[in-house]
Amino acid sequence: MTGQSTVVTFASGSVTGTGTVRSVHPLPEGAIVVVDATPFHPVDHTWPDQPGDPGVIRSEDGAALEVVEAVMVAAGDDGAFAVGSDIPVKRGAEGWTWQVGHRVAAGEAPEWLGPGVDVSLWVDADVRAALSRGHTACHLASLALDLAVADLWRKDPGSDALGNPDFEGRANQSSRIAGDSSIDEYRLGKSLRRAGFDTETFAATLAERESLINAQLSAWVASAAPSEIEVDGPTIVDRRRWRCALPEGEAVIPCGGTHVRSLSEFAQIRVALDLSDPQLLVMTTTAVSRLA
Ligand SMILES: [Zn+2]
Repeated sequence: MTGQSTVVTFASGSVTGTGTVRSVHPLPEGAIVVVDATPFHPVDHTWPDQPGDPGVIRSEDGAALEVVEAVMVAAGDDGAFAVGSDIPVKRGAEGWTWQVGHRVAAGEAPEWLGPGVDVSLWVDADVRAALSRGHTACHLASLALDLAVADLWRKDPGSDALGNPDFEGRANQSSRIAGDSSIDEYRLGKSLRRAGFDTETFAATLAERESLINAQLSAWVASAAPSEIEVDGPTIVDRRRWRCALPEGEAVIPCGGTHVRSLSEFAQIRVALDLSDPQLLVMTTTAVSRLA
């Protein structure tokens, strides 16, 4: 038995917390510190859309160590230990425990930071807030995109979280979230055409579609809808969902990331559509904080 899955508190918006160090793993690219509970949000190893939180770990007597990023780690009952994309098994695989790792800059952690030590954990709150805005804006933009191209389907592609034709689900191939922004890529190849999507009309009306998305995003920002993360349990392996009560209905999307508490945290969300490669739609979403 290698231990328990890490208890995580980021879903409720926490950026600080306390815990006990469980293990420290020296690695050439930066040692990994595992704590029993953490407010740090780790980058997901299978769908790495939102970067892991940076921040600081402090001892009770004031020593501090910078955390470069939080990552997913998996510890095998046989002593195996894997980080991020090197994890060789699927989530929930027998004989493995899933934990949050705090990667530090040096290959070895300092002496004061060993198993059993009580620490406090401090996420960089500004970075987290900007990533949360970026992630919520990303989901809203994809819902607005689905809506803006809903008339271009000749067959039913299935429904998105608002009941509109699911362009996102059919075409999205990658999503990268950064502070107050995201970049999504959509494959507009033969298979999408075969699924019934009219790519020619889409390409011919790109500017119009972009305006439709931006108008929808302005309306959603103005609605100041509440936004939250639902969890099935307290640890990093428990499933999580983003829930946002939009005027058109409640959108619920499986999601491991962090989010704003209300769309009133935005002054604006806008997208730019780029189809310079006719096979690949690139949607860049930019958010502006109301506090900026
Ligand atoms: Zn998400």
